[in-house]
Parts: sequence; structure tokens; C-alpha cells
Amino acid sequence: MTASSYDADVVVVGSGVTGSNLAYELARKGRSVIILESGIRIPRWKIVENFRTSSRKVNRNDPYPNAPYAPNSYTPGYIENTGTFRFLPGMLRLVGGTTWHWGGSDVAVPSQ
Ligand SMILES: Cc1cc2nc3c(=O)[nH]c(=O)nc-3n(C[C@H](O)[C@H](O)[C@H](O)COP(=O)(O)OP(=O)(O)OC[C@H]3O[C@@H](n4cnc5c(N)ncnc54)[C@H](O)[C@@H]3O)c2cc1C
Repeated sequence: MTASSYDADVVVVGSGVTGSNLAYELARKGRSVIILESGIRIPRWKIVENFRTSSRKVNRNDPYPNAPYAPNSYTPGYIENTGTFRFLPGMLRLVGGTTWHWGGSDVAVPSQ
């Protein structure tokens, strides 16, 4: 493995809508920014294809990978509930973050 070194004013962890907008605004103000993202980059067509070929259809996370190195939020360990109210939101680990969730939740499945 080749070691690389990078330099930036700010390092943003996560490329979801929060991190991306933060990085964009910082860059507009002249700061150099690095975004670290643990998930993979998946093209839109692949997410749609993953949904179409999913055998279950009812699972909203089927179109997205649930890799051991980047689990989604339904996998224990991604989100830790510390309060008394149990809340488990669906969050995705991929480039773009949870903004991609539309592909699995809003596509109508024709009944046959
Ligand atoms: C089904 C569904 C429908 C929704 N509908 C709406 C809607 O209609 N309107 C609306 O406003 N909101 C909606 N939301 C909510 C909205 O999508 C989320 O609130 C928003 O996308 C969260 O953005 P975020 O950047 O905070 O987090 P995320 O998008 O989850 O981004 C976090 C990023 O950090 C990365 N990451 C995590 N851990 C690490 C790590 N250790 N190292 C590096 N990177 C890491 C992840 O891969 C991800 O890219 C919906 C959510 C879901 C699940």
C-alpha cells in the first residue's frame, strides 16, 4: 500500500447532505476541504437495478449495500440509542448518504 498525505483547512466526515453542504459553503469561502466517506459510490442506475432485482421489495434498504465495513443503520452498531426514547432512523452509508433513500421507498411495485 502506498502512503499518501493530504493537507486541508477542514476535514468533513460524511458526504450526506449535511457534510456536502458544509464542504460546499467552506469551499465557497476559500477554505480547502477534504470529505471522508466510509461508504462506496453507487451510480443511480445501479440503485434502481438493485431495487428491481431484490426478491423482497418490501425492505427499503434492499437497494443499498450493507457491507461489513459500512453497515446501514438497521445493523447494530451504526447508531447508539442513549436516551429513554428508542429511535432507529434509516441511514445509509454511501457517497451522498441518506439522500439516496428515495430509490427504495417510493417506487411503486405492480401487483401480479
Ligand atoms: C426513507 C426516508 C425518507 C426521508 N424523507 C425525507 C424527506 O422527504 N424530506 C427531508 O427533508 N428528509 C427526509 N429524510 C431524512 C433525510 O434523508 C436525512 O435527515 C438526511 O439525509 C440526513 O443527512 P445527514 O447528512 O445528516 O446524514 P447522512 O445522509 O446519513 O450522511 C452521513 C454520511 O456519513 C457517512 N459516514 C457515516 N459514518 C462514517 C464514518 N465513520 N466515516 C466516514 N463517513 C461516515 C455515511 O456514509 C453518510 O454518507 C428521509 C429519510 C429516510 C430514511
